[in-house]
Amino acid sequence: MMTTRIGFGYDSHEFKPGVPLRIGGLTLDHPEGLAGHSDGDVLLHAITDALLGAVAAGDIGSFFPPGDPRWKNADSAIFLNLAMEELQHAGYRIANIDTTLVLAKPKISPIAPEMRARVADLLGLEIDQVSIKAKTPEGLGLDHVAQCHAVALVEKVTDPEELKSMSAVIESQRQLEDVVEDLLSSVHGVPKKRAVAPVYDTEDIT
Ligand code: MG
Repeated sequence: MMTTRIGFGYDSHEFKPGVPLRIGGLTLDHPEGLAGHSDGDVLLHAITDALLGAVAAGDIGSFFPPGDPRWKNADSAIFLNLAMEELQHAGYRIANIDTTLVLAKPKISPIAPEMRARVADLLGLEIDQVSIKAKTPEGLGLDHVAQCHAVALVEKVTDPEELKSMSAVIESQRQLEDVVEDLLSSVHGVPKKRAVAPVYDTEDIT
């Protein structure tokens, strides 16, 4: 029986002025954000594809078709949850994740510890199971783009209790999203599965 599998994910998004910069589930202080149908979180998208790839469950675009209004401006933690569910369904858990962001600005190293903690939290992992590295796109002429590469090693779960603890993470995330959505709708008076003005103008989600 195969007890470990590996997955690889890649993503890129173009920088765009006037959009919040979301990377690794954090909002970073920067004059430009990443254009995308969702919140453009290039790191979470690459990790999502690595996890889906590890259990040969397709990719982010096959679950969240570009242009679907439900995912307009979506928090990319939702995509990560989907990947966790697929992983759980296949009977695997994450051993570790390694990522490399490629972007000219902002500098990631000062905030990498906080970012690792956030991603670990989203995935129900210890911080030492999540690695986030970054480099600049030397010689690529791609200073206007953020790219991310991610690999995930997953291992077969033998103790059913472990799958239960993964469910707890997925459920708590889902509840959090529901609370956020309720708050948004009560503050802005917008209906659920929101009709807020689009901030991102491309139809590319992945
Ligand atoms: Mg993407």
